[in-house]
Amino acid sequence: MIPIAWTAPTNGAISAAVVIAPMSKPENFAEWHGKLAGKIVLVSLPGSTDEPKEAAFKRYSDGDIHDLDKYDAPQFDPDAAALRAKRRGFSLKLDAFLKAEGALGYVKRSYRDNGLVQGEGYDYLVGASPSLPGFEMAAEDYRLLVRLAKTGPAPVVELTSNARYDDSDRNAHNIVADIPGRDAKAGYVMAGGHFDSWIAGDGANDNGAGSVVVLEAARILRGLGVSPKRTIRFALWEGEEQGLLGSRAYIEQHLASRAVPAGLNGIDAYAVWPTAYPITRKPGYDELKAYFNIDNGSGKLRGLYAEQNSAAAPILKEWLSPFASMGAGSVVASKTGGTDHVFLQSIGLQGFQFIQDPLDYESRVHHSNLDTLDHMRPDDLRQAAVVLAGVLWAAANSDKELPRPPLPSQPVVTDPFKVADPNE
Ligand SMILES: [Zn+2]
Repeated sequence: MIPIAWTAPTNGAISAAVVIAPMSKPENFAEWHGKLAGKIVLVSLPGSTDEPKEAAFKRYSDGDIHDLDKYDAPQFDPDAAALRAKRRGFSLKLDAFLKAEGALGYVKRSYRDNGLVQGEGYDYLVGASPSLPGFEMAAEDYRLLVRLAKTGPAPVVELTSNARYDDSDRNAHNIVADIPGRDAKAGYVMAGGHFDSWIAGDGANDNGAGSVVVLEAARILRGLGVSPKRTIRFALWEGEEQGLLGSRAYIEQHLASRAVPAGLNGIDAYAVWPTAYPITRKPGYDELKAYFNIDNGSGKLRGLYAEQNSAAAPILKEWLSPFASMGAGSVVASKTGGTDHVFLQSIGLQGFQFIQDPLDYESRVHHSNLDTLDHMRPDDLRQAAVVLAGVLWAAANSDKELPRPPLPSQPVVTDPFKVADPNE
């Protein structure tokens, strides 16, 4: 069991009987009113154990990569977005309800089996973080507690969290370095990954792996003493785990701003940012010619996601071609999400991410207590650094520029007849 991020410490051990009170929306609160005082509340359903259909560790076959080569028609469903926004605020509402009821703390079940814990929580704003101690328990242990509570007297558990928060510096800090280009008018190409990490493990794979690949590509190019036509910029972003804060700040400072409604902060601003219109370009918008992100664990590079930019695909393929024999020659149409190229993509700029062998990243490592050095693959990382250095070199010297889509504008509703499912 680990504390959920940004929840309050216990200030010494707290000891109390558990009560099973699964809640996932405010409508569930009434049922538990008056029944939680002095208790430790188990707020998740126990669920049942997984039957994984895929191996826990895998590399992509050529067929797997072929399956990623698909174009998805864009969709815009404002009702679904509004429902998602409503759900986002639930964890703080639950915290306030439990506190008002006099509960001592609460425990959630891990969303993965096999003893893994993540402690995910995103209510990080100063003055708007949870007031009760909250924990995430390994799924098997959680189910044991639930079984005991269902069949006999409620087990008494003891919880201690020594979480401490240092709010003395509330900024995140990006690290940016350039290999200057020969032609000041040719713009720049950039590689990046986020330098911050999640709380449960070392952050070795998310995203120590991407960070060392960016650093090593910089070292390779610098060590060769070569001079590219375009500037090559290396960026290590911070605050990615709190909603792409570092890369968003870079974009807003240098590339473009969006009309995000005033008063939206934290994870709410993250959710709204890529769909807030209009987009206002800054003078630096045209200078960025390509951005390559690394943030999918320590698996070797297999190619690039073209992010539905079909016109860019043949040029990306050409830049990757020297590395086809290392398994990194593929370009697929799919989009990828969740990390620092996303906001660049959303303003129409050429932000891409590499296809990487999955290894055990999604199955076990991402955000879990297993995100440790043990799960990094040194040979994969060496391959990745070489491929990244080569692609940057090609992009920095290419006569061709990657085509961009027109500046994105407010989409029309895809299906005006659709009724959003309130239980979705
Ligand atoms: Zn990451």
